[in-house]
Amino acid sequence: SIMPATLAAVSNGAKRGILFKGGVHLEHLGSLQAIAFDKTGTLTTGKPVVTDFFVRSKADRTQALSLLASIEAQSNHPLALAIVNYAQEHGLTTRGIEHIEDVPGFGIRAVVDEQEILVGNPRFVGAQETKDFHQGIIHELYEDGKTVVFIKDSQGILAAVALKDTLRPEAVQAIQDLRQLGIQSIMLTGDNEKTAHAIAKEAGLDRYVANCLPEMKVEQMKGLLKEYGNVGMVGDGINDAPALATATSGIAMGEGTDVALETADVILMQNDLTKISYAVKVSKKMQRVVK
Ligand code: ADP
Ligand code: MG
Repeated sequence: SIMPATLAAVSNGAKRGILFKGGVHLEHLGSLQAIAFDKTGTLTTGKPVVTDFFVRSKADRTQALSLLASIEAQSNHPLALAIVNYAQEHGLTTRGIEHIEDVPGFGIRAVVDEQEILVGNPRFVGAQETKDFHQGIIHELYEDGKTVVFIKDSQGILAAVALKDTLRPEAVQAIQDLRQLGIQSIMLTGDNEKTAHAIAKEAGLDRYVANCLPEMKVEQMKGLLKEYGNVGMVGDGINDAPALATATSGIAMGEGTDVALETADVILMQNDLTKISYAVKVSKKMQRVVK
């Protein structure tokens, strides 16, 4: 049976934009030793913007961008939306592409005019080739915390587009508050090592795991549970749902996908990360009252 103190705290939480799907979930929060955060859409706003666009020598910029945007127009990944917007801002229209395959965690495979085109991260299009592209420039983009998407045709890398996502304004404070409560924060991201490092530093995170494929997030969570005992997971995407279900406390961003919202135990209605430490404090206070 639910304690009156729990009931009051749950209803108080709802007033402050924290939805608990049952009193037991509020109780769990006070026991967390660590919290894992997804990057895109969770620690960041998930609305990246294009900052740079490079093509290989002798290639036509407009044609390359138009092809890239036409392929990305078929995807609803946040990076894809940003690239399509960028192309539209440059007055380009997209054309229909017939053969498209979404490869979660990597990018998109398309067939255009009987030519295979790959759009995605270095692991997908070929890491060595991306390193050789415009020597040094790509490296600098990563150091700035940018994500780089490549397009590759039968002749090799055709173009690269850099995108910058912004940290949520309260992310640094939220992580600091958790640290004061003795809770470690860890970022899990599908992005590459250098970009992950830059964003983790900006957010003040203790640890991060880069190159984390969608199915790897739940494995990482199992490892963290063994290491820390009770671990929370904060996420927004379909990719995060298995890890949200595995964590001691699954926490979803209010603007997350339906699957994330359904799977989570707790929902941050206003996407405000500082509400996590607030809820942890309420939970700890309640534990003292009950004992
Ligand atoms: P995260 O939310 O941590 O960025 P995702 O699993 O959504 O993780 O994506 C991992 C990586 O896969 C992205 O950083 C990007 O490099 C690549 N990727 C996935 N989908 C696309 C796409 N539609 N266009 C370009 N790159 C993509
Ligand atoms: Mg996400």
